[in-house]
Amino acid sequence: MDLLDEGPVPEHAREAKAEARAFAEAEIEPVAAEKFSSGEYPWDVLEAAMDAGLVAADLPEELGGRGFDVEQILAIGEEFFRADAGIGLTLMLASFGCELVEQYGTEEQHEQYLRPVAQNDQISGLAVSEPDTGSDLAGMTTSAEKDGDEWVLNGEKYWVGNAVEADWLTVYAKTGDRDDRYGNYSLFIVETDSEGYEAEHIPEKMGMRASKQGHIVFDDCRVPEANLVGTEGGGFYALADFFNHGRVVVGGHGLGLAAAAIEEAEAFVHEREGFGRTINEFQAVQHILADMQTEFQAARTLNWRAARQVKEHDNPGYWAAMAKTKSTETAVDAAERSMQLHGGRSIFADRRISRVYRDVRIPVIYEGANEIQRNLIYRQTPR
Ligand SMILES: Cc1cc2nc3c(=O)[nH]c(=O)nc-3n(C[C@H](O)[C@H](O)[C@H](O)COP(=O)(O)OP(=O)(O)OC[C@H]3O[C@@H](n4cnc5c(N)ncnc54)[C@H](O)[C@@H]3O)c2cc1C
Repeated sequence: MDLLDEGPVPEHAREAKAEARAFAEAEIEPVAAEKFSSGEYPWDVLEAAMDAGLVAADLPEELGGRGFDVEQILAIGEEFFRADAGIGLTLMLASFGCELVEQYGTEEQHEQYLRPVAQNDQISGLAVSEPDTGSDLAGMTTSAEKDGDEWVLNGEKYWVGNAVEADWLTVYAKTGDRDDRYGNYSLFIVETDSEGYEAEHIPEKMGMRASKQGHIVFDDCRVPEANLVGTEGGGFYALADFFNHGRVVVGGHGLGLAAAAIEEAEAFVHEREGFGRTINEFQAVQHILADMQTEFQAARTLNWRAARQVKEHDNPGYWAAMAKTKSTETAVDAAERSMQLHGGRSIFADRRISRVYRDVRIPVIYEGANEIQRNLIYRQTPR
């Protein structure tokens, strides 16, 4: 059975899905175990994905991208994460932060910064989280102060995808101290070879090992006035809107991982024998598989509904937060159950299921921990 079937995928996103699946089968699956084990940045796979037109594909066609919408990117995300979450994250984050520059930036910023990413000559990243807080977007302390025709950044960022590898980042920094704590933040484009920018990799992770995150220190890091993205003080609201799009796609990360967990469970129980039969013949095992299927299909249906709501700007925050929560937690549950069905063999480090088991811990946290999503769902419930 094809868990990631075309059923809920709109017609216009099916070609992107087919391309992503073909790429994942040819270029990601064969190296997934090796890249997970080495924990090295998968430059070769990233370059192959660029050649296949699957990196930064959401950037506008006039800049060299493919103008993919949220549904096309979700379709790609499901397929990449089914093949390997760490590599999938690297491929999908190679243009992270660009969407904000596209939406709020100037034409000059589009030409100077988006075009090279859209044409796959550069990669980017988005720096929001800090060592002391990730969830409280209005509690970040990295500051940007105006000095003549420059902004001077000081502070630290943590967990930033491609902090070491990227050519430039979109950085979220505090520019005011008003009572309205949501109006105190702005976005800046920062080139990673700027003076005062230092980044190093965070310690080795147990999951998504083929993706790399960094710890950044800004020490009087100067950027030109022209690198402010959007309006001064508008950063929090720009980010909140941007996350709706991202959360639908992170739901797809969960769906890809859940599909991988279910595939592994199905294959294993039909082969493994005990008590004179294959273990799939036990009704208790069948019920576990039935529950996994039901939860998966419920999550996927919700996620694709949410993608449409976000695309149509129709109460997007509520739907995106629900999709992210449901799909990523379905992945955690599916991985846990699949591990149990694998018995002792579940813990062999090189098994696909044990990689998935470690990877599923991450999407319930990034793009806003699921507790934050629940706050958003409650607050944005139509009443
Ligand atoms: C692999 C990976 C990649 C990442 N990539 C990026 C990136 O590219 N750029 C970037 O900026 N960040 C990135 N992040 C950071 C990520 O967004 C944060 O980890 C996340 O927002 C949570 O922040 P935190 O880890 O500081 O947890 P904290 O904010 O310290 O929260 C810890 C826990 O406390 C609980 N909690 C916190 N606040 C509340 C609340 N209000 N109500 C209820 N419970 C609460 C939750 O259980 C939460 O998980 C990445 C993280 C990971 C793991």
